[in-house]
Amino acid sequence: MKQDFQQILRGLNLKSTPKRVVLLEVLDDESVYLSPEDIWNRMKKRFRRLGLPTVYRNLEELYAGGVISRVIHPNRQLYYYLCRNEEHHHHFICVSCRRVVDVSFCAEKELQDVVREGIQGKVLSHILQINGLCRHCLQKDGAVHAY
Ligand SMILES: [Zn+2]
Ligand SMILES: [Zn+2]
Ligand SMILES: [Zn+2]
Repeated sequence: MKQDFQQILRGLNLKSTPKRVVLLEVLDDESVYLSPEDIWNRMKKRFRRLGLPTVYRNLEELYAGGVISRVIHPNRQLYYYLCRNEEHHHHFICVSCRRVVDVSFCAEKELQDVVREGIQGKVLSHILQINGLCRHCLQKDGAVHAY
């Protein structure tokens, strides 16, 4: 697994540092999105003197390099998630338990049409995140009011 992340980083022309590899391992252990503070707390077990600004910087660099995804929660907090699905897809995020589920639906063609016909422009890329409650949370009473 460690080897794997080193290869991924090098493949993207990003320097493979022990901190980046551990950061990716921390995210890979979870099927939920994590805040920079969550990641920092888990990483501190391995790097005692690690500062939160270093974690923020590495997260932004890995995000910019396309290794990890950002989740923008309706509570305005920024979270991060590692997804290994390389096909074009979008994320359904549970605002309550933080689960992330891949959604293959994409309205790319419709968007392209609307933009071309409506504003005579051209779509270069798009971001779509679906916020909701997952089926586990829907089965639990009170989850709907959790945020
Ligand atoms: Zn949920
Ligand atoms: Zn995904
Ligand atoms: Zn799409």
